[in-house]
Amino acid sequence: MSGKKVQTIGVLTSGGDAPGMNAAIRSVTRTALNRGIRVKGVYKGFQGLMDSSMQDLSIRSVSNILHEGGTTLFTARCPEFISDAGVEKGMQNCKAAGIDGLVVCGGDGSFRGARDLSLKGIPCIGIPCTIDNDISSSEYTIGFDTALRTAMDCIDRLRDTSQSHDRCSVVEVMGRHCGDIAIHAGIACGALTVLVPELKFDLERDIIKKMNNTMTNGKHHFIIIVAEGVTHLDSNFMNAHELAAYIEKETGVESRATVLGHIQRGGTPSPRDRILAAHMGHYSVELLEKGIGNRLVAVQDGKIVDFDILEGLSMKKTVDSDLVRVCNEISI
Ligand code: ADP
Repeated sequence: MSGKKVQTIGVLTSGGDAPGMNAAIRSVTRTALNRGIRVKGVYKGFQGLMDSSMQDLSIRSVSNILHEGGTTLFTARCPEFISDAGVEKGMQNCKAAGIDGLVVCGGDGSFRGARDLSLKGIPCIGIPCTIDNDISSSEYTIGFDTALRTAMDCIDRLRDTSQSHDRCSVVEVMGRHCGDIAIHAGIACGALTVLVPELKFDLERDIIKKMNNTMTNGKHHFIIIVAEGVTHLDSNFMNAHELAAYIEKETGVESRATVLGHIQRGGTPSPRDRILAAHMGHYSVELLEKGIGNRLVAVQDGKIVDFDILEGLSMKKTVDSDLVRVCNEISI
């Protein structure tokens, strides 16, 4: 805790964008202004600290952004900031702009930057914004619910056409290190098999035999969901298109691959993401107002809590084995 009351809070969005970032910016801005604290929006993540690219935010400058996907402050990856000299420059530019507290909306990489800046004397608070839901300290991250809904809508459409043609649809969803979108979409969309980076799988057992068994029950269309990280992490693994060709060769079922890609990043944020962003933005300002920095905001047991950034980053995220079991047992 520092004794001095925070005067000006900076807010930035960094790393991959996520629907709900605007709701977080709005909440930080309005909570702070309401308490007599000035707010500066920093453009393009930490790059804006390098270039002193920032602007005062007012109650009205964050009007009409709540429902918009993406981020009105723009986002970027800033390699310069990863060096000590970059963090020092960021700290000096914060001081020059009068910023004595900073809210960083992003993922793990951005939180490392927030920690470095906190250690240089600018108290930072991290808000978890990533569609992958891959922040270990938080049960939910802003953007995940919207991305899941988008994936579900797309897969439902694929199901319609797969069912009409007795086809197999192999769908690649986002998730480099975390299969949460894949598992949740798998249950929501009735996928036969979900392949995630956290769990080992066997193509013969988990796909080919399962499809053949299911065909004996009279089902002839299939959804297979593959998290992006499965192909990313295992260089021996085939991509979604090669997997579809393999399935067709082994089962005789006509198979098509669809990579959903960045479609999952965009779109109007869901109620859950807007509410979570509003709550976390408000909570972040309250921490800074109390003189507390170097914290990550998170959801634990459904409640908003905070952790020391390093402690939060060192937590391990495990795959929800209950959900995997549900997914596997009912997908027959
Ligand atoms: P995300 O926040 O979504 O995980 P990145 O890993 O790309 O995205 O990180 C976003 C930005 O955070 C980087 O471009 C860089 O400016 C900053 N950053 C990442 N890692 C570090 C680090 N170890 N130290 C300081 N800053 C970092």
